[in-house]
Amino acid sequence: MFHWLRDHHRAEVRSRPFPAEWDKFVSANVPHFGLLDAAECAELCAMTQVFLEEKQWEGCGGLELTDEIRVTISVQACLLQLGLPHDYYRNVDSILVYPSTVVIPEQHPGVFQRVEGTLDGDVPILGQAFTHGPVILVWDAVLKGSRHPERGHNVVYHEFAHKLDMLDGAVDGTPPLADGVQLTEWVEVCSREFLRLRQLTEQGHKTFLDSYGAKNEGEFFAVATEEFFDRPQLLQQHAPDLYHVLSTYYHQDPAERLLRFEAAPAEHPAHLTLSLKNPQDSNEAV
Ligand SMILES: [Zn+2]
Repeated sequence: MFHWLRDHHRAEVRSRPFPAEWDKFVSANVPHFGLLDAAECAELCAMTQVFLEEKQWEGCGGLELTDEIRVTISVQACLLQLGLPHDYYRNVDSILVYPSTVVIPEQHPGVFQRVEGTLDGDVPILGQAFTHGPVILVWDAVLKGSRHPERGHNVVYHEFAHKLDMLDGAVDGTPPLADGVQLTEWVEVCSREFLRLRQLTEQGHKTFLDSYGAKNEGEFFAVATEEFFDRPQLLQQHAPDLYHVLSTYYHQDPAERLLRFEAAPAEHPAHLTLSLKNPQDSNEAV
């Protein structure tokens, strides 16, 4: 009964017209949206409406939440699930948003399981995801990453990739996969690429993937997800096997989307002037 009511309500929310003002926020802040075809746009807008309504939102540190903040975060979180069977991130109840880089007070032990090693007392963070708790985001980092995919850093993709990873209860860089064949390929490719990143990082080499991904398998998946959606063609060049397993998992092909856009830009929204093609020198991890 409960599910029937919930599904009925979701269907109603999904059918609402996407507010024109929200469309402006998405157009201004999320260049990837301009790469989607009409069916993908419609589905993402519908998902965004449900996600935005169902989650609890809290402005922290004096931040007054606006529709721009909620929409910009929601549409990017939902983009990750666009091709996945999903339940609108059932493991995310609330999203806490701070205005800018903050030092978050120590949590009481046992309340949440930390997954980011960067939240230790006085170390500032840009975002954080808890296994049994909220997603924390910093708005100025969200906006910068959203508007500048050429940098390859997106804290929304990062934290919500952690939440996908957590769906099976373990933060191990392996989200729930379709079958054993997919799992075998995933483990083979991701293990190899993770160890390669770790080795290069330890040797002090520059790497395409952010060296933060060498910290553990969970961070590797989150960092790889950022590049998959932000700089798909470069990821495909640097690590084609990794791109392939991510594309198989997400059921999305952002590199192909970008090619389609470049082949016929006139068929895409005029606002999409931000290039997802990247300067080679942009923000490579050291
Ligand atoms: Zn992380």
